[in-house]
Amino acid sequence: PIYLDYAATTPMDSKVKKKMNQYYLINDIFGNSASRSHQFGWEAEEAVDISRNEIAKLINADSREIIFTSGATESNNLAIKGIYEFHKKKNTHIITSTIEHKSVLDCYRYLEYKGCNVTYLSPNKYGIIKIKQIKKNINKNTLLISIMHVNNEIGSIQNIKKIGKFCRKKRIFFHVDATQSIGKIKINMQKLKIDLLSFSAHKIYGPKGIGALYISKKPRIRLSPQIHGGGQERGFRSGTLPVHQIVGFGEACRILRKNMHHDIKHMKNLQKILWNGLKNIEEIYLNSNFNYCVYNIINISFNYIEGESLLMALKNLAVSSGSACTSQSLEPSYVLKSIGVKDELAHSSIRFSLGRFTTYQEIEYAIIEIKKAVLKLRKLSPLWEM
Ligand code: PLP
Repeated sequence: PIYLDYAATTPMDSKVKKKMNQYYLINDIFGNSASRSHQFGWEAEEAVDISRNEIAKLINADSREIIFTSGATESNNLAIKGIYEFHKKKNTHIITSTIEHKSVLDCYRYLEYKGCNVTYLSPNKYGIIKIKQIKKNINKNTLLISIMHVNNEIGSIQNIKKIGKFCRKKRIFFHVDATQSIGKIKINMQKLKIDLLSFSAHKIYGPKGIGALYISKKPRIRLSPQIHGGGQERGFRSGTLPVHQIVGFGEACRILRKNMHHDIKHMKNLQKILWNGLKNIEEIYLNSNFNYCVYNIINISFNYIEGESLLMALKNLAVSSGSACTSQSLEPSYVLKSIGVKDELAHSSIRFSLGRFTTYQEIEYAIIEIKKAVLKLRKLSPLWEM
């Protein structure tokens, strides 16, 4: 099948695999990067340092601002619960949006359960949170705002520059889940007023099970660790580092830094071709607005067709209905609901997501397959004939 689900995860770049293999199979480095007293530890430590530098360079941060985690889920947990635990007072209030990834929303629900006051902001129909909503909803007890950079289902892009500036002025901590934006939008931490930024290697052609949390040094951000132990990662995240995965993550970031311009151009072309090929199908609705959206995601509703049936009919295409994480449930996507998509249309939605290795031929083939499947399913639909 043709892989059009890059927002769920990406295949590893062959250069990343090579680097990890070299590290493991050829050089046989197995030391603990925290073992400071011998050669085995030093080798591992050096490999971690090089990778940390690469990762920091990608977002123009200081390498001391990068903390390794097991992925963006853990980074989000550390950022949100860590800030709350360290700084909480009576009546602490925190803000997020209704279209965040579950790993942010569930942290907020957890803190709400713990007695924290929480505001969930709804986006407009394009999936955008306006700064004036934030201004209207803060109060003197607002401690933290967490807003994602790019949404994983519809691709909408938030104005993190503006929100960050406002938060800094008001002395409110600002956390950004950048899992879907890294590699699709250039991020320069020197130009942004962001305190904490989460991201993950497996969305950028790196290995699974490794991610990072950027924790600002200027201003210095303090938060409570969520995993206690040997004090690795400056005490923010204990546990022996998975050096081979970190090596892969670093290489993925190095490649991205060199390739991003090309990747973005490529995805932009493909997105246009895909939509131009599909847009004449009757009764289809674009849930991603191209004025406010990244180039690698297109979310489309095919009216009168169940998304699940369409997925089955498109056996040769790997795509998602709703978000990968929520598609186990038959509830319509909460993101689509939040931007005002009606239940029937939310049920008939498919997310196509493209990446570095997507080819023109694959897109041409996908267009033909989708058109065929839509025609066939609509013929079977009693509602369509009416
Ligand atoms: N945040 C967003 C926006 C995502 O799309 C994902 C991945 O599905 C995550 C967080 C979780 O990332 P990870 O799989 O690295 O835990």
